[in-house]
Amino acid sequence: MEKQYDIIIIGSGLSGLICAYILSKAGYKVAVLEKNKQVGGCLQTFVRDRCIFDVGVHYIGGLGEGQALNQYFKYLGIRDTLKLQRMDMEAFDTIGFGEDDTVYKMAQGHERFVDSLAQQFPKEHLAIKNYCKAIQDICQKFPLYFLDIHSSYPSDLSHLAINAKDKIASFSSNPTLQAVLGGNNILYAGRDSATPFHLHAMVLNSYIESAWRCIDGGSQIARLLVKQIRKEGGVIFKQKEVDQFIFDGNIIKSVLLDTGETLNCKQVISSAHPSQLSRFVRQDRGHLRKAYLNRINNTQATPAVFSAHYTLKPNTVPYINRNYYHHKTKEVWNAIENNSKDWPSTYLALTPITSKSPTHADSFAAMCYMDYKEVQRWENTFNTVSQETSRGASYEAFKEEKASILLEEVYKQFPQLKGNVTNTHASTPLSFRDYIGCPTGSFYGFERNYQDPMRTALAVQTRIPNLRLTGQNINMHGILGVTVSAVLACIGLVERKKLLTDIVSAT
Ligand SMILES: Cc1cc2nc3c(=O)[nH]c(=O)nc-3n(C[C@H](O)[C@H](O)[C@H](O)COP(=O)(O)OP(=O)(O)OC[C@H]3O[C@@H](n4cnc5c(N)ncnc54)[C@H](O)[C@@H]3O)c2cc1C
Repeated sequence: MEKQYDIIIIGSGLSGLICAYILSKAGYKVAVLEKNKQVGGCLQTFVRDRCIFDVGVHYIGGLGEGQALNQYFKYLGIRDTLKLQRMDMEAFDTIGFGEDDTVYKMAQGHERFVDSLAQQFPKEHLAIKNYCKAIQDICQKFPLYFLDIHSSYPSDLSHLAINAKDKIASFSSNPTLQAVLGGNNILYAGRDSATPFHLHAMVLNSYIESAWRCIDGGSQIARLLVKQIRKEGGVIFKQKEVDQFIFDGNIIKSVLLDTGETLNCKQVISSAHPSQLSRFVRQDRGHLRKAYLNRINNTQATPAVFSAHYTLKPNTVPYINRNYYHHKTKEVWNAIENNSKDWPSTYLALTPITSKSPTHADSFAAMCYMDYKEVQRWENTFNTVSQETSRGASYEAFKEEKASILLEEVYKQFPQLKGNVTNTHASTPLSFRDYIGCPTGSFYGFERNYQDPMRTALAVQTRIPNLRLTGQNINMHGILGVTVSAVLACIGLVERKKLLTDIVSAT
């Protein structure tokens, strides 16, 4: 392991890897330091009973020809090698409520989305059309989402202060249509009192453009990027957890790893959860303002999740090329609050796609919110590279019980699973805390709030001249969101115009 780098990147999640690629390609000597055994952060997969399970990426939007993420991935040199399955054009997402058998469909392509939903809400054609136009319009305020390299971010920020639920209700007074349009809000941890309309719009719009599953899991994105980084001369070290910064004046001169090793660098980019900044500067807190660290540590996090992966008897359950979101009631914007009374108040269910069979699923995944308090009694147990303690039999029993409650709910909509589930593997908020490194297992990092949009808007550049931040907490979560955050983190270290021109002209 060499000891001197131009740029050290903390974390090998998607944002860290993209920064490493851009900066290695620009001629910098770059090292990525990852605390886990596997690279990828939320892109990690795990294998149980010969089935591949995704930790954090179930489907991706905007990968069609001419769409923004597609172009970013071409620039990264990974678009053509990704193994993808386009989801059902008529319904990438389906949404259902309570015991009602009606399934509402979200189709790909804006026109198809409007026409298909209008078949289910015949009196609401205009409302759905207006809604669709509004989400496209607000997305235009964020030029890098469209790779519009000539426009800059608007100085008037009023578009950040629009409530998603109210805005959706402004198009139609039909409560079912309102609930359908917000029905896949697990995608952005939607909450009545917080979620801004632009967040809803950017997530939905990218899937309406086009929706894709990764065949055999999302970790392929990380693996392909690692190859690309290595080709450009960058290096990636696994099981290297950054513990502290060592300063020379106000500049970071090296990072100290938990193994005791130090690596010297000219610049650091951190994609770790920003709460780790308090740890990194703990010997020399003056480098970051107390108010800044307090703001980070007190910002409301998005909730945590419980994920259950059920393995299936071979060739018994057909692969379903759509996702299904279920809500016990149409109060979709209160799902997080309602969860504590009636768990799981809402869930997402899907069949991952494997190269083993194009027709049948080898597993079934279900995901729902879980209050961190439910697992707090085991919070002093860890499953990390540097610390591994058993969470004990009571934790295993808890997981089993929750996975079976969730499965009973899922059976109501997917009776074909009955008798075909062979095994269950569950992850709790503690698994996410340990694998991804976010406090309380929050799955999308900071919660964005339309009432105070600037509170969670952390700038890329910190007060420490050679420390930048990237990742889902800086810009926005999701594959497209963190891709944009990586580009933003690199601008300045590479020339903006050249970088953006290279991206838009990549073939
Ligand atoms: C359950 C779940 C489902 C999701 N589903 C989707 C989806 O279907 N589609 C979609 O687009 N997005 C989805 N997302 C969101 C998306 O996966 C994330 O927003 C994105 O991958 C985050 O990337 P990142 O680069 O910000 O950081 P992360 O992926 O969080 O990576 C940060 C990395 O930093 C490492 N690290 C932390 N601290 C240190 C340290 N001190 N030293 C060294 N390394 C450190 C971590 O181990 C981790 O590898 C989902 C997320 C979750 C959790």
